[in-house]
Amino acid sequence: FELERLGVHESVDAVFPPAELTDLLADLPIDVAVVDDDGIDDCDAVVTLAYREAFLELDWIHSIQAGFDRFPRDVLEDHDVILTNSAGIHDRTIGETVAGYLLMFSRRLHDYVANQQQRRWERPEWDDAFTLPGSTACVVGTGTLGSGVAETLGALGVHMTGVRRSGDPVPGFDEAYANDRLLEAIGDADFVIVTVPLTDETHHLFDADAFDAMRDDAYFVNVARGSVVDEPALIDALEAGELAGAALDVFEEEPLPEDSPLWGMDELIVSPHAAAYTRDYFRDVGEIVRENVERLETGAEFHNRVV
Ligand code: NAD
Repeated sequence: FELERLGVHESVDAVFPPAELTDLLADLPIDVAVVDDDGIDDCDAVVTLAYREAFLELDWIHSIQAGFDRFPRDVLEDHDVILTNSAGIHDRTIGETVAGYLLMFSRRLHDYVANQQQRRWERPEWDDAFTLPGSTACVVGTGTLGSGVAETLGALGVHMTGVRRSGDPVPGFDEAYANDRLLEAIGDADFVIVTVPLTDETHHLFDADAFDAMRDDAYFVNVARGSVVDEPALIDALEAGELAGAALDVFEEEPLPEDSPLWGMDELIVSPHAAAYTRDYFRDVGEIVRENVERLETGAEFHNRVV
């Protein structure tokens, strides 16, 4: 297709100012402009966070997220709309956020921050704090997020296991398990970290059986998508003391409703779907978009094509 005008949809503003991206891409031999819903008509392609039905008239949608569960892939295919995503850029951000969660739990930092709000000088129990070397983290999904988590935690001395479809060895992981050994893999871990995309196959992958299989002193981390987890089952397991705690960046309903019991639990870290935030986000997205504009010129297949 002919690409003359690329819109940067205003919805990206939730992650970075749209004008940062249009400035970055200003040297491309096409028009790049910030657009709202009314401006979509004038574009051939769009870079976006949100999905709009009006995008079905375009040739190409680039999502600034890695997950594409919110885009109707069948409908896009029927309308001959190409969809590309931003997988491949979140290894370091997510890896560092997950390392932060684990260090908060192991070094009790979340308690000190909570106590400080109330000017309370309170030391932990003698056996609450621990160090990470010698502990095991099981990462479910060994793509960009999983590999970034393995690299960051591996450097902190954590023994890394990974669960993936094939079960074949994968760089950065000390051990790999095939999907059919999920319960065995998570049953062995001090930390279970979810990094799989949300698909029909992974919907509620973490249910009561999974939490049952996990150790009572293990922590659960979800940086993937809320619905990979059966949230009521997680809440039950936490309330029953069948898990030590959890760090959650994503939820079945976002924003997390004010009356969710998750807000008030000890040993529970809530972050607002922001584990991948970085001031460089627009640059990372810009590189993928630039690469694909160049590929379009040379007739090469798009990078990160989903539909
Ligand atoms: P990716 O495409 O690089 O990796 C996904 C991996 O999951 C691949 O290795 C794939 O083979 C594997 N996978 C898919 N289905 C599987 C299954 N049923 N069982 C086992 N493995 C399976 O994507 P990524 O960048 O690592 O992102 C993964 C997901 O994390 C995204 O789809 C998105 O939902 C989520 N995400 C969240 C944030 C955040 O802000 N919290 C940021 C980026 C991505």
